[in-house]
Amino acid sequence: MGAHVTWETCPGCGRPAALGWLDGDPVQFDCPRGCRLPPDLISAMFGRRRPVRRSVR
Ligand SMILES: [Zn+2]
Repeated sequence: MGAHVTWETCPGCGRPAALGWLDGDPVQFDCPRGCRLPPDLISAMFGRRRPVRRSVR
């Protein structure tokens, strides 16, 4: 509960990358090109805005 994934633009390569959220905090960044972001940078880039929910109720 509270965990979901959004697709965000990778700051490293500009392609869509999966961003995993847990309880409102971005916790995992998975770029298909293999770019890696440290957790503090993930929070700095994505942590202070509301993710766009892609699921439709
Ligand atoms: Zn990337």
